[in-house]
Amino acid sequence: MLIFDNAFCRELPGDADERNVARQVHGACWSRVMPTPVAAPRLLAYSREMAGRLGLQEGWLGAPENLAAFAGNAILPGMEPYASCYGGHQFGHWAGQLGDGRAISLGEVVNEAGERWELQLKGAGPTPFSRRADGRAVLRSSLREFLCSEAMHHLGVPTTRALTLVGTGEEVLRDMFYDGHPELEPGAVVCRVAPSFLRFGHFELPAARGDLALLRRLVDFAVLHHFPAWQGKPLEDWFQEVCERTGRLVARWMQVGFVHGVMNTDNMSLLGLTIDYGPYGWVEDFDPGWTPNTTDAAGRRYCFGRQPEIARWNLERLAEALALLHPGGDLSSSLRHYDEAYHAELARLFAGKLGLAEWKDGDAELLGELFELMQEGELDMTEFFRQLPHVDDEEAALAHLAQAAYRPERWQGVAMGLHAWLGRYRQRLAQEGLAAGARRTAMNTFNPRYVLRNYLAQQAIDAAEAGDVSRIEALLEVLRRPYEEQPGQEAFAAKRPEWARSRAGCSMLSCSS
Ligand code: AMP
Ligand code: MG
Repeated sequence: MLIFDNAFCRELPGDADERNVARQVHGACWSRVMPTPVAAPRLLAYSREMAGRLGLQEGWLGAPENLAAFAGNAILPGMEPYASCYGGHQFGHWAGQLGDGRAISLGEVVNEAGERWELQLKGAGPTPFSRRADGRAVLRSSLREFLCSEAMHHLGVPTTRALTLVGTGEEVLRDMFYDGHPELEPGAVVCRVAPSFLRFGHFELPAARGDLALLRRLVDFAVLHHFPAWQGKPLEDWFQEVCERTGRLVARWMQVGFVHGVMNTDNMSLLGLTIDYGPYGWVEDFDPGWTPNTTDAAGRRYCFGRQPEIARWNLERLAEALALLHPGGDLSSSLRHYDEAYHAELARLFAGKLGLAEWKDGDAELLGELFELMQEGELDMTEFFRQLPHVDDEEAALAHLAQAAYRPERWQGVAMGLHAWLGRYRQRLAQEGLAAGARRTAMNTFNPRYVLRNYLAQQAIDAAEAGDVSRIEALLEVLRRPYEEQPGQEAFAAKRPEWARSRAGCSMLSCSS
């Protein structure tokens, strides 16, 4: 049984207009809307950890009357579905109202521990914010969101979670590469879960409209429910906390090689969670300029290496919105809290990846040299760091690292340089005085063995589209313990195979979802 306490709708103003037609919504944070039922719901996967966290009994989600609610076909007692209103900057430009165009929140569950968890369906039909789109989602993108949410959680990266992945038994028309070739694809609905889905854009929209009363209510609500320790404190202190959380989040992405792909301000969580899994990707051959998003290929605004800079840019936009409520009228000086939190967390994480007890002068240069070699050598990021503890075996270290290479000729080009780098790295490690075995164990807690490689997700999609969902569960199982060696599961750690180098869905992803 789920116990609901729907604070967002109770405490914030709602839309008086109850028609579910695309429109601008003013003076309200949410609009009442019902999910649109689907033909044939089928539970394709669920997260047992998330189900447990919500207090659900084993088997509860599979019961048809419960499953119906996660397909959008029924409303359980206490659910009060709504779509929330927000705006955002997309690709650097103010886009006005966006809102939950295909997300419908069912309400906020309070579990036995008193934790508040908002349940939100993605792909459950149109809302007043759908503009000209259908409010639906395809199986491939839903499966990617489901798996990655849980994988990130197990990696220790702050993220929204996923509870269920439900096939709708209906088809959705999508033009995957926007080239005039729309095709019918299987549809799905994900139920995602987070303490709150508040985004930077929720604050930007009332600010842009000059609705300071609404902006104030949103801030008060966010602080009361999601930042209680900042109640009664100056707005600036709270904004600094948002900056710090965002800084720590992006450092985590850099640690594991995650590229969000669409860091628009409407896709930035106020709580510092990874949110809105779309054309995201995992860095394979190390390249700070890599973006998984085909829409971003020309500008590379959202490539791996620019994520820290873009997160800061997004915080600047949030600062501008919140500054309307700030006596001084300017919050930009708070941004240094982002810089500091990001750099401190990045240093902590990369010290961990390199097996260093602390980050010292000169370590940034050492890491910078390594990044250049990794890029030049086209080395797989995950594999490389996992092999790095072999540094102590002077004879074999280089051979171990060679396993990260995609192309022999590129490896040859950097082997000498890496050999020299390893020498400098050994000298640095000698200052630490940590036994090799202990260091190796420690490094493995920062360097995942298993990440949701782009091609692995695509294989699970191909199988699921053909009716076989067993690969989703198999992947989820491995991704539950990403930092551990799992004998028998080596295939899930394998570098990108050659066929996946340029296949759609594996190295390039479209926003069409
Ligand atoms: P995104 O950048 O993918 O997070 O989406 C930007 C905006 O487009 C958000 O307001 C989404 O709700 C909306 N949107 C994306 N896809 C759809 C869809 N299929 N139907 C309705 N709205 C959508
Ligand atoms: Mg979005």
